[in-house]
Amino acid sequence: MSTGTEIAPLVLIVSGPSGSGKSTLVQKILELPGTMPSISCTTRARRATEATGKCYDFVTEAEFDAMVARGEFLEYARVFGKHSYGTPKKWLEESRKTGLDLVLEIDVQGAAQVKEKLPESVAIFILPPSREALEQRLRRRGQDSDEEIARRLAKSRDEIAAFEKYYDFCVVNEDVERAGREAQAIVIALRCTSARRRATVENLLASFGRE
Ligand code: 5GP
Repeated sequence: MSTGTEIAPLVLIVSGPSGSGKSTLVQKILELPGTMPSISCTTRARRATEATGKCYDFVTEAEFDAMVARGEFLEYARVFGKHSYGTPKKWLEESRKTGLDLVLEIDVQGAAQVKEKLPESVAIFILPPSREALEQRLRRRGQDSDEEIARRLAKSRDEIAAFEKYYDFCVVNEDVERAGREAQAIVIALRCTSARRRATVENLLASFGRE
């Protein structure tokens, strides 16, 4: 029953170094009923492994610039100084319409912008257990050149150094099962805060009738 006091769905930001396993943990969060993904636009080329499935909306530089000019992005950034990535506002609108919690997998620059615009959003940072583990995962993926791996490792260091500024939670991805449970637990706990349960409490009190 609508009481007119419901609060907007959660906006969950998930970031972490490339190779930290954040996409897997985002999938774990999306397994929770009541969640929906934000699909980013990017100007980078589609990877062979991305032939099927959602991942991204791949657009040209001109299309991206036109979207920026029309104010269609909640946030956008140039990542690794090469390609543009952005979160279309339409996913936020969709989340508010459907009541589903929105999950954004974006970098630290994007997280800073979303936190600025939506201070109530919640940001989760995924940490690798070690630099070696991160490098190993990047190499095992076999999708990047040595130069690209070096660039990603340097960006990772900077992001880890700055993460406390914007992030509310931190999950260390040493064991993916455990990290997945932790990521889901964060979302479940956020749904149980007193502020989010207010409508339920009001309904419950109303069901007792007048004092
Ligand atoms: P990749 O090219 O490996 O898929 O992603 C590179 C980086 O871009 C990752 O850190 C990813 O989280 C980030 N990213 C993906 N989508 C967005 C977005 O919409 N906005 C921002 N700011 N970063 C994004």
